[in-house]
Amino acid sequence: MKTYEIVIGLETHIQLNTASKIFCSCKADSWGAPPNTNICPVCSGLPGVLPVLNAEAVRKGALLAAAMHAEINPISYFDRKNYFYPDLPKGYQITQFDEPIGKGGYMDLRMPDGSERRVRIHKLHLEEDAGKTKIDRGERLVDFNRCGVPLVEMVTEPDLRSGEEAAQYLTQLRQLLRWIGVSEADMERGHLRCDANVSIREAGSSMLNTKTEIKNVNSIDAVRQAISEEAKRQIDAVEAGQRIESYTLDWDADTGTLRKMRSKETEADYRYFREPDLLPVVLTAAEIAAVQNSLPELPLARRARFIQDYQLSAYDAEILTSERGLSDYYEESVQLCGGAAKLVSNWMMNDLIRLMNDTGKSAAELRLRPADLAEIIQLVEGGKINPATGKSLLARVEAGAGKASQIVADEGLGLIADEDTLRQQIAAILEESPSEMQNFRAGKESLLGWFVGQVMRRTGGKADPKRTRELLLELLRQ
Ligand code: ADP
Ligand code: ZN
Ligand code: MG
Repeated sequence: MKTYEIVIGLETHIQLNTASKIFCSCKADSWGAPPNTNICPVCSGLPGVLPVLNAEAVRKGALLAAAMHAEINPISYFDRKNYFYPDLPKGYQITQFDEPIGKGGYMDLRMPDGSERRVRIHKLHLEEDAGKTKIDRGERLVDFNRCGVPLVEMVTEPDLRSGEEAAQYLTQLRQLLRWIGVSEADMERGHLRCDANVSIREAGSSMLNTKTEIKNVNSIDAVRQAISEEAKRQIDAVEAGQRIESYTLDWDADTGTLRKMRSKETEADYRYFREPDLLPVVLTAAEIAAVQNSLPELPLARRARFIQDYQLSAYDAEILTSERGLSDYYEESVQLCGGAAKLVSNWMMNDLIRLMNDTGKSAAELRLRPADLAEIIQLVEGGKINPATGKSLLARVEAGAGKASQIVADEGLGLIADEDTLRQQIAAILEESPSEMQNFRAGKESLLGWFVGQVMRRTGGKADPKRTRELLLELLRQ
């Protein structure tokens, strides 16, 4: 039997998180609003109205192009893509065709096995969204709320090779979109939608065979699953001597099956022409430079820097750069802790992330700021409080109980600072436990833990465990 390679290109629609729609002043996001309550004459396509381009949508589209290492086009145009469908009241969609906002570009992906893969960007352009139709008790209903929502359509070259790689692309794209702040990228809300183009070829071949296009794969699991199913179907068909036909498939998430929809339109069917109601979009060199300069360090670069500069494990670096806010939080805390990178990483990986899960907040939303975390870490490291107290303080500061050092002072949570007091307590315990002392001296060193426990009990947990051990050993070995 031959071995096959799967060839995949993804088309994504990304909803930009601007305040208003792309050509009118309606709110951009109307998630959950009743149908047709977030529309105006412009986005519902009444005759005689004129579109006004949203500058923020252009800036965010250009920023995304920069993040994709694409060239930001100094002069781009809007075009009309003509087709007739009930959810498209104007009878055309305003989009960009031959001179889009971004040209070329690529995205580097990190694969679970640690390898990297470069996915080239075939197309990146701005456009408006269409409305939505649904069938309800035999009637077709249409909701225009989504008309005019600003989108970037981004299409990859056929550079992906498995359902898993496609899933990685979407996962890392979603992270990047949030990181650079251009989209909420919530797939459930349709902020990030994906169509997958799939073909197969014999391993080693560089030919592109006929592909099918899977629509409506709107979760990352669905993308992985739908691509695997479709590749399997194509391989079986080819093995049985059949030809693959180019058509569009619909993914049914409920049953996990693919349904044939229609044969595909070609570009010529759309009769593109320049949008006469909008001027060309001109970006000066200074404006392009401003966009490029506003691009933050990207997740992959930051992850590599964390490994390099802070000597973090790949795993810790991965988690701590999963979100921009979390990675900023980490760096700020490290700085406030005098560069104690590994120490801060341990606190964040164990306790801060738990606090985020418990409260449902992102790092940026926590009331416990990096200065608060650093203060608690330093109280523990300086032997002022024990680690368990330190951990419990995280949730208390988060709940609004005040500054950590103040809580420690008010509630007497500090460790016994005075060495003589500690010595006296230990001496008293040794005196009360002659047989344990004898056993320890006879070689049963594991009793040290028992003695530490006694000291803790007697002091209500306020003995510095490290100092206690040292003093116990000193006194026991006398
Ligand atoms: P179409 O004209 O059908 O829209 P495009 O050339 O615009 O095709 O490409 C659409 C998407 O399909 C892109 O993501 C592209 O990478 C992908 N693609 C193109 N050819 C193939 C192929 N043979 N196998 C898999 N994907 C492909
Ligand atoms: Zn409107
Ligand atoms: Mg196309």
